[in-house]
Amino acid sequence: MRARIIRNVIRCNHCGDVIESTYRHDFKTCRCGCVSVDGGHDYLRRCSLYGPDDYTDLSETAAPDRKNEYEEE
Ligand SMILES: [Zn+2]
Repeated sequence: MRARIIRNVIRCNHCGDVIESTYRHDFKTCRCGCVSVDGGHDYLRRCSLYGPDDYTDLSETAAPDRKNEYEEE
């Protein structure tokens, strides 16, 4: 089972912008254009110009609660 995504947010290491994708097709790009997030609470998608060192991942995920498990299609 995949982890639930609570917040899909990263900080650009170049300009310091904190960008958050709040819904599935919410594509956000930082001020300097180096990094982007997408996917909202469905998937964690990052785009970066140079690589993973471009951003600091501030996302929050939670393991599925086994006592309160939802069926997902
Ligand atoms: Zn930036």
